[in-house]
Amino acid sequence: MNDQILSLTKKLIAFPSESNNREACLEILELAQKELQGFSFTPFAKNGIPSLLYTNTPSPTKKCKIILNAHLDVVPAKKEHFVPKEKDGKLYGRGAYDMKAAAAVMILLFKELAQELPYTLGLQLTTDEETIGFYGTNYQLEEGITGEFAITGECGSNLRITNRLRGLHVIELTASGVEAHAGHLWHGENALLKLYEAINSLLQHYPTPDAPSWITTINLANITTKNTTHNVVPSEATALLDIRTIPEDVDTILPKIQSLLPEGIIMKIIKSMPGLNTKETNPYIQKLMQSYKEHDKQLVLTESYAGSDMIFFAMQGIDGIEFGPIGAGQHSDEEWVNIKSLEDYYQLLKSFLLSIT
Ligand SMILES: [Zn+2]
Repeated sequence: MNDQILSLTKKLIAFPSESNNREACLEILELAQKELQGFSFTPFAKNGIPSLLYTNTPSPTKKCKIILNAHLDVVPAKKEHFVPKEKDGKLYGRGAYDMKAAAAVMILLFKELAQELPYTLGLQLTTDEETIGFYGTNYQLEEGITGEFAITGECGSNLRITNRLRGLHVIELTASGVEAHAGHLWHGENALLKLYEAINSLLQHYPTPDAPSWITTINLANITTKNTTHNVVPSEATALLDIRTIPEDVDTILPKIQSLLPEGIIMKIIKSMPGLNTKETNPYIQKLMQSYKEHDKQLVLTESYAGSDMIFFAMQGIDGIEFGPIGAGQHSDEEWVNIKSLEDYYQLLKSFLLSIT
């Protein structure tokens, strides 16, 4: 099986399917369609972004029990990174780890198991995860695709199970003041200084960690003011903040931030996304645990600091995990996936899918 996985992964890597290369994204989906010929599927397209949902049912359906999710787009890369290379048990190339090898395993497993599974298995293939996934995974779910449990082959878990992802809130803080000449500061109220004070108070409560830490963090992304000249006291200023919240804080973070802001600072919510918090007691995680035991491995649960398409499942109340093979270097020039781990990934996922009735 490893030969087939390797060969399909290499074929997938050869497509320069950068998220904004729509032609290559269409072509890579066509290749997937060839691989999955004969199975029912529903094509989706939103804002020119195509994606597919395959199901092991005689005709297409929206209601799945288990959903396998793979994105076939990649971040931009140099031409040579679309030529897969094997070295020391590793397969190098753009998307090897993020996440074409996992996609290859999912496609092959779907083909192999589709007829024998007594439940509806869905396979989502999307092409916009690297540009947030709104028109791929999110669109499919908004169109009514459902499941009891979803697995994305996203990189980062390294054969462990990522069951927790931080949520994301993007907010804008605006301070107003009174314009005045810089020579007569006493007539003015400096909006930038008010904003500075507000941000300071937030960062005191949510300090920036200097090592990976499973806590809620705030990134000050941007500060703007309409004032462009040195001799005027600015009368308005706006800051853009990116807040990553651990699941325990998701519901309370915005009221908490509001309570920490000095009077007069206006908070506007730009974006709010929950995190992922699939409990260890989830029956499908328990089944995975069993599948690990069968292969003499121990399941380790972990968390991820950045988001993925899994968040869209969480938004719909669908439990799920990130689970992918071992590798490193995603989004860098040295991206690789461990070839042996692909066989392990395949076997673990296969036992899991077969254990569900
Ligand atoms: Zn990815």
